Amino acid sequence: MTETATPDIVIIGSGMGGATCAAGLAPSGAEILILERGERLTRSAATRDPRAIFQRGVFRPQETWIDGAGRAFNPGNYYYVGGNTKLFGAVLIRYRSEDFRPIEHADGATPGWPFDYAALEPWYGRAEALYQARGTLGQDPTEPLHSSPYPLPPVPDEPAIAAVRHRMARVGLRPFSLPMGIDVEKWLAGGKTTWDSFPDVGDGKMDAEAGGLAAALAHPNVRLKTGARAERLILESDGERLKGVEYRVGGETRFVTAKLVILSAGAVNSAALLLRSAEGGLANRSGMVGRHFMNHNTTAVLAIDPRVVNDSVYQKTLGINDYYFGDGRGGPPLGNIQLLGRVTGPILKANVKWAPEWSLDWVSRHAVDWYAMSEDLPNPESRVTIDGAQIHLDWKRSNWRTHVGLVAKLRERLRAAGYPFVLTRPFDRRTPSHQCGTVRIGADPRAAPLDPYCRAWDCPNLFVVDASFLPTSAAVNPSLSIAAQALRVADHIVNVDLKG
Ligand SMILES: Cc1cc2nc3c(=O)[nH]c(=O)nc-3n(C[C@H](O)[C@H](O)[C@H](O)COP(=O)(O)OP(=O)(O)OC[C@H]3O[C@@H](n4cnc5c(N)ncnc54)[C@H](O)[C@@H]3O)c2cc1C
Repeated sequence: MTETATPDIVIIGSGMGGATCAAGLAPSGAEILILERGERLTRSAATRDPRAIFQRGVFRPQETWIDGAGRAFNPGNYYYVGGNTKLFGAVLIRYRSEDFRPIEHADGATPGWPFDYAALEPWYGRAEALYQARGTLGQDPTEPLHSSPYPLPPVPDEPAIAAVRHRMARVGLRPFSLPMGIDVEKWLAGGKTTWDSFPDVGDGKMDAEAGGLAAALAHPNVRLKTGARAERLILESDGERLKGVEYRVGGETRFVTAKLVILSAGAVNSAALLLRSAEGGLANRSGMVGRHFMNHNTTAVLAIDPRVVNDSVYQKTLGINDYYFGDGRGGPPLGNIQLLGRVTGPILKANVKWAPEWSLDWVSRHAVDWYAMSEDLPNPESRVTIDGAQIHLDWKRSNWRTHVGLVAKLRERLRAAGYPFVLTRPFDRRTPSHQCGTVRIGADPRAAPLDPYCRAWDCPNLFVVDASFLPTSAAVNPSLSIAAQALRVADHIVNVDLKG
């Protein structure tokens, strides 16, 4: 086995958690090596071709996971420099301050976080600056306190969407401009498509490669090794501290020692790597590694009005949080509603294979495409396990009644707004886009593998900084919260570990 020169810090994964943490650590001057199993995405005929992306799945991994019923499936989990953010919708929204406290839902309660919103607030502002978030304050009725304004104004509504905003407001809702990390002009110069679920090759999407990683690599003390897949974390002989990381690159197994390891492989892969690294799982005295897997309950909702043409290209500029804290009649929270990126005929065809594409083009021309999202609650039986190299993901959806309620509310408001046809389709287990919770933070080492700064309770030189740490899924997109905590953890490491 070849040994690589010893860096101070090894980061596994260059997605939202890993890249942002690297950006926070880089100015310290510590020698940082980022191991990333994927390669950089480069421009090709497929990068803006919806048939290649959605019908042929050319960017999906050559990988199958096994679900709770023993069925194999190909997950929409992306292995590139920048991770899942390469295809993300670029919504950069904060958790609500209430999301940090226990919340009663229709089917159970959330546990809350080990700290409150105020503790993370300054780093939310720094994450918005790093990812050049575009937004405006004062429109979203659930908006938490912001001590700093958005760095840039919101992405403009296209004319067809400005009309939708007006239509939804007329039926009593309060649509707001979705906070977003996208330079629209630059994106559209690369092709007239939306960015949601389309891969970014440097066209203005503020993904983890363009944001955190670029900032980190501007420092000479940070190195990125691509095509380098971490296989195991190795403990010192004391069984307490990590010695380093075993990884595969170019068909060869290598080992790198490090003073600190930051595991940021994503909520499924980080849990799998810990489980694979020691009998019973590394950093797993709590027995909680791999448990509490969450992934929002989400549904695509197409509002069709045959009298109106939706000629928008990107569409994705509106959110609605009127049902975030309750159903409007004193009932429990329902969730968030936001526009999807524009769903065209070829995209619909990927899901409705029997229909001719021309008919789907017609549906698309008259449809406005929404995304309803509800909180998934942490359940220890919803979990990632491994069988050798094989990943098993037994996602036990929770709180489904809440989600049904949200979709019903949206349908009813859309009908009131004059859309005679409303089609719905839930996203399934093949879409673990908002996976989280599998190596969660907590104040009690018996109930959580990580302390509130993402340090493993059982292993002082191991941090897990990706969607795994999220103790709740809330009902908003996760990336900005991952980025904010990654910057907070980086500051903590600089002040505590690197000073020692
Ligand atoms: C289609 C889509 C749309 C989305 N839209 C939004 C949105 O609009 N807003 C939002 O907030 N979130 C969105 N998300 C979710 C968001 O992308 C994720 O929450 C976020 O990327 C999670 O960050 P992470 O660091 O946990 O994992 P990732 O960003 O996925 O990073 C994990 C990294 O680790 C690497 N890796 C994995 N295993 C290994 C290994 N063994 N060795 C080395 N490297 C490894 C991976 O290749 C990857 O680069 C979307 C996701 C998808 C798929």
